Parts: sequence; C-alpha cells; structure tokens
Amino acid sequence: MPRRVVVRRSPVHGRGVFASRALEPGEQLLEYNGKVIAWSAAIRQYGKSGATGHTYFFGLSNGRVIDGGQRGNSARWLNHSCHANCEAIEIEDRVFIHASLAIAPGEELFLDYQLTVDDLADEETRLSYVCRCNALGCRGTMLAVGS
Ligand SMILES: [Zn+2]
Repeated sequence: MPRRVVVRRSPVHGRGVFASRALEPGEQLLEYNGKVIAWSAAIRQYGKSGATGHTYFFGLSNGRVIDGGQRGNSARWLNHSCHANCEAIEIEDRVFIHASLAIAPGEELFLDYQLTVDDLADEETRLSYVCRCNALGCRGTMLAVGS
C-alpha cells in the first residue's frame, strides 16, 4: 500500500501530518494507534507532560482514551482544527482516520478532536486546550461543545 501521509514540521503546532498524494473523501488514511487507558490516567499523565504542550490523547465515546504517546503511530501528530479535513471513525476501541474532504498533495491534515472532559471542568485544564486554528468559526477550544 503506498503511503498516503507523511509527518513533518507543521506551521500550526510542532509536527503535523500531511497528504503525500491526493486523497479522496472517505478514504481511510491510518489507524490512531496507542494504548487504551482511562481518562483519570490520561489526566495524571497530562499533568506530567503538560509543560511540553503536546499530548496525544484521543477520547473514545465510551469515556476511555487512546494514548498515542504509548505504542502510538504517526496519527498522534494530527493537529486539531475546528474546520477539519479528516474525521475519526470509531469501531469498538479502535479509531480510523478518514479523509472527509478532497485533500491536495502537501496539505496538512486536521482532525476536530472534540475532546470530552466531563471530569476536568477546572479552568486550568480548559485553558490548556485553547484552540488557535484561526479557522472561520473557530470554537476557541479543542473540547466538544457543551462539555
Ligand atoms: Zn479552532
């Protein structure tokens, strides 16, 4: 299978994932690999790594989290945007990243994280998930609306 994506430095944040060729809407790009952990463990981990400003958590609908920092792959470098061009499709405890739009070679891939953090309503945590994607209609946060 030819590689669809490549990881390199992103103008948005740290490293990013970029299309290495034209991608069709709906095309499956990669799996979001990592260790499945509880939110409480993710929060403890975030406290330790918070200074680096890069976390690799993907929230599952069952309240657990995929930690791309453990046994993760290049999907953990996907940056957040409120106007994403990729979507995550969850199948049990696995997450697959698909293109949601036609994407040109060299374009950066973005996912709308929509993190749900019921257990972490404190202001400090919210501030650490501020979104600066600058997209039109940016929610200003990587958290899901209403969480
Ligand atoms: Zn945004």
